[in-house]
Amino acid sequence: MPKTFADEKPEYRCPECGLLYPTEELAERCRKWCSKHKSCNLEIIQHAIKDEHDNHR
Ligand SMILES: [Zn+2]
Repeated sequence: MPKTFADEKPEYRCPECGLLYPTEELAERCRKWCSKHKSCNLEIIQHAIKDEHDNHR
């Protein structure tokens, strides 16, 4: 599998809210929370990576 050079570290995105996390565990926790509660858990999203390309807020 060829690697892209766009990102040195792997990032994991929550498919529910689109936030990026440094670990798969955090992304998975966020995904579960989002799908269950339809809102974000501050305890989880504080670990999210700021996505400079995503300025829709
Ligand atoms: Zn999420």
